[in-house]
Amino acid sequence: MKKLDPILKSYIYLVGGEIGVEVSRELFNAEEEFVSAEEIAENIIDRVEGKIDFEPEEDEVLRVKTVRKLIFKLQEEGLARSRKNRSSDGYYSFSYQDTFDAFPELLFQKIDLIQKKLRARFEYEKNNSFFVCKNCEDTKRFRFEDAYEYNFRCLECGGPLETEDNEPIMEFIKRRMMQNRLWQEKLIKRDFNI
Ligand SMILES: [Zn+2]
Repeated sequence: MKKLDPILKSYIYLVGGEIGVEVSRELFNAEEEFVSAEEIAENIIDRVEGKIDFEPEEDEVLRVKTVRKLIFKLQEEGLARSRKNRSSDGYYSFSYQDTFDAFPELLFQKIDLIQKKLRARFEYEKNNSFFVCKNCEDTKRFRFEDAYEYNFRCLECGGPLETEDNEPIMEFIKRRMMQNRLWQEKLIKRDFNI
């Protein structure tokens, strides 16, 4: 059986847990181009024995439902697609295929999105002055406009609002952004087993 790429596997685990990984293994190793949820449920039953949400004692319908639910999650992530089949008696059924070859690009885009959010947050920190009350432990931060409106007095205790040094926050965001960039550079060079 072909192994799932370790990064892809970790990602799928986050999306669908252990059963999600087993379902993905089946999609990845399917002999036919498309495979049905029934076949997958049948193939993984021994491997997932005793695991949550997929008890062997469960009736078949329930197990197939679990598999479908997990494939749907993969579809939502752009990691699987379905095909609608029509049988001779007029009924519809679905079968599925992995789209794992899209994974590196998906991952890259996700990291890109995180990077954009971090950058926006960094700009927000850079372009604003923040005020806090040193008497109150969990007091919230006020932007200058708000602190001004409250006459630089804490709403909780009436104490003075003082300028907050947000340099450590900015440093933290910068470090995260650097890590992200390194991660992206590694991903570009990486050969995915997909
Ligand atoms: Zn206070």
